[in-house]
Amino acid sequence: MTEYDLPPGAKWRQFELYAMGFRDFAGIRPDVALDPFRLAGFANLLVVAFEAIKGLTPEVREHLLGDASEKWSGGACSVPLPDGRKIVILNPNHGRMRTNATLMEEVSHVFLGHRPSRLKVVAETASGQTVSREYRKTDEEAAYGTGAAALVPFAALKRYVLEGLSSTEIAKRFRVSRELVEYRVKVTRLWKLYRSAQADK
Ligand SMILES: [Zn+2]
Repeated sequence: MTEYDLPPGAKWRQFELYAMGFRDFAGIRPDVALDPFRLAGFANLLVVAFEAIKGLTPEVREHLLGDASEKWSGGACSVPLPDGRKIVILNPNHGRMRTNATLMEEVSHVFLGHRPSRLKVVAETASGQTVSREYRKTDEEAAYGTGAAALVPFAALKRYVLEGLSSTEIAKRFRVSRELVEYRVKVTRLWKLYRSAQADK
């Protein structure tokens, strides 16, 4: 049996194992960037460009890409197309790094077999941000956590942390945002190691 380098905590270990499966499926090495756009097709997701949406008034378009742009990152439509595919729309303002995480979450929902809950939940966070959920809360956490683990795998992350790479440098290697790398460093309990490696530079 192969020994895997897994993060502490049963939940995070489980997410890591699922994520390893995703990367295995994509056929990529554990230390290179995963392109979720390549996985989207396998997950039966059809990524549609925002510009291709017809029927939006100029005002709505301007609102979605202007004032409201920080309030939405994208998501999948809950009603599938006749051929079974689901449409995913991504915020074109958010850049490839953030978009990768959004799309990876949608891919995770499909690969993990999550069923949308019947009731769509729209709520406001403490910071006043509107969030909407299509899935149960535990499924949302699993999809995001597993997606993040697929984009930034623990073993490679740990090695880069030990080599003294900054979160910005690690983010570049995995083509994700610095915030996502720091989230992964924290949830996999590498933060102390990261801080001391940065201090030693
Ligand atoms: Zn989700």
